[in-house]
Amino acid sequence: MQINETQLQQVDRQVKRLIKSDNFYGRRLEEAGIGEVKSIDDFLRLPFSQKQDLRDAYPLGLMAVPEEEIVRIHSSSGTTGTPVIIPYTAKDVGDWAEMFRRCYETAGITKKDRIQITPGYGLWTAGIGFQAGAEKLGAMVIPMGPGNTKKQLQFMHDMKSTVLCATSSYALLLAEEIRREDCADQIYLKKGVIGSERWGEKMRRRIKNELDIQIYDIYGLTEIYGPGIGISCDYECGMHYWDDYIYLEIIDPKTGKNVPDGEWGEIVITTLVKEGAPLIRFRTHDISRIIPGECRCGSRFPRIDTIMGRSDDMVKIKGVNVFPKQIEEILAAFPELSSEYQIRISHLDGRDTMRIYVETNGHVDFRKMADDVAAAVKGKIGFTPLVKVVELGVLPRSEKKTQRVIDERFS
Ligand code: ZN
Repeated sequence: MQINETQLQQVDRQVKRLIKSDNFYGRRLEEAGIGEVKSIDDFLRLPFSQKQDLRDAYPLGLMAVPEEEIVRIHSSSGTTGTPVIIPYTAKDVGDWAEMFRRCYETAGITKKDRIQITPGYGLWTAGIGFQAGAEKLGAMVIPMGPGNTKKQLQFMHDMKSTVLCATSSYALLLAEEIRREDCADQIYLKKGVIGSERWGEKMRRRIKNELDIQIYDIYGLTEIYGPGIGISCDYECGMHYWDDYIYLEIIDPKTGKNVPDGEWGEIVITTLVKEGAPLIRFRTHDISRIIPGECRCGSRFPRIDTIMGRSDDMVKIKGVNVFPKQIEEILAAFPELSSEYQIRISHLDGRDTMRIYVETNGHVDFRKMADDVAAAVKGKIGFTPLVKVVELGVLPRSEKKTQRVIDERFS
């Protein structure tokens, strides 16, 4: 999705502001000899930024306004090394709430709803983002935070919560608890806004069926406001994102070049109006694609597809970028197959070959099964793999994370 004139002007303003502020980005832009952004070519010359750059700016090196304008900081959960600190101005906080309000609106949630929020509050951006958007919408917030499942269920029942905001794993845990307590008839949930984790279609269906709710996937990351920069709609065909607040590119993670709409690659985000800590061409390492065309819901906002994993997991074969999760999703559609599989990529007779090993019980026609899987991969990804069907239990299993993709081309 090419950057438009309005977005270019916004980026130009951001770049000039950053240089004036002399923060980490400003210095980097100056070093790169960039003073303004007037054309698409100017934009594409802007250097990428990475999470490591943000870490290097710890604690307040990203701040692009005088400190008296900062009203809050958030921090991304740094399990390893230095955390990232993101400062917000009052306008940033307000913009984020507006984006989140739009998310609820896209999901058909109104001020008549009662929204039970279970993501955590604190340094992390989750809980407070869900809450600010809900308040802006005018709905009733039930700010539970995570944990204490019994109390969650009690409030869900007594407060007649109609919307559940949760991570996918916590939503599933609550669903299982409701089943165990056999109290589904006392639960009034209609919708779930589920975010911040990568999750498969199988898990999605389970939560949907167990809780009997419509599910909406929310997208976002702490570095860029937080959750709420995009959400799926009733048609479940990707997530709309707010292109008046962010400009989103999809790049080939190996070459750094933009890929055409519809092709998979890494999401790169530029904030258009952020004040406290604007980001320029920030590499998220999340894999998705722009979905071309209009959505049936009528929203004017563009869409990205479900996040398919991290760019570090990507393999390129026959010129097509492939992610293990894509194969996994295709295999999950065959109930005859076990959840074990192995993908081997090799270079034979001058060309790249992908072999997929799948397991099934002895009751299916192995040959037909292999053809069906190969056809499904061809249909979804665009090339035909060699599929080998083996007996249940043949593929290696281990307690630890099993290695499922073996690239033999470089070994
Ligand atoms: Zn839509």
